[in-house]
Amino acid sequence: MPRDPGEDPEALEAGRLLFAAECRFFHGAQRLDQLPPIAGPEVAFAGRSNVGKSSLLNALTGRNHLARVSSEPGRTRQLNFFDLGGRLTLVDMPGYGYARASKDIKADWQGMMFDYLRGRPTLRRVVLLLDSRIEVKQADRDVMDLLDRAAVTFRIVLTKSDSTTPPALARKVQEVEALVRTHPAAFPGVLVTSSETGAGIPALRSELTALAM
Ligand code: GDP
Repeated sequence: MPRDPGEDPEALEAGRLLFAAECRFFHGAQRLDQLPPIAGPEVAFAGRSNVGKSSLLNALTGRNHLARVSSEPGRTRQLNFFDLGGRLTLVDMPGYGYARASKDIKADWQGMMFDYLRGRPTLRRVVLLLDSRIEVKQADRDVMDLLDRAAVTFRIVLTKSDSTTPPALARKVQEVEALVRTHPAAFPGVLVTSSETGAGIPALRSELTALAM
């Protein structure tokens, strides 16, 4: 049986190397007709606003301000494309549903975001972030349903694992693992990370590197 990439030294090293490569913003798209041409494999990052997506992207790429690009005025509501070493495209999706009713997810995500998810042949995976400390919200469930419908494999990653207790984290992992089993498009299991301590970051790098050119 193949080893878990998070435990395989060669896969970890491959991940370290790829994510040490240059990572540069190359495109922003607010509408479908603005998407960059289909090229190599893409991995998109999604989550509620404030889930820790910018921090995770910075931790993955070892940069302090990579994701700042995505928070510049005018860029928060668009898909932001980053080229990583010419081998993998990272796509920062707009945060959804912060402190608002789930109907917003529909307005924000059912149009352009759903069309992107469903229609992008090079999109290999969505990394869907959930905050370790916060209950899974309706907006998160809506996005998981949408990913099922778009038939895009998604990987659940828990963020901010440093800011909860080990027993609470264990309960959270169990709860989310059970949820994941109900979603046909979900990659099995849950990856626990902290951008603060770096926990889980090498494992996520190596997992994503397996999707690169
Ligand atoms: P985004 O809106 O999803 O891009 O979230 P940010 O990356 O801007 O983070 C939102 C807040 O969570 C900020 O106050 C971060 O400092 C905090 N945060 C992000 N990642 C972590 C983490 O791993 N641990 C802790 N304790 N806080 C974090």
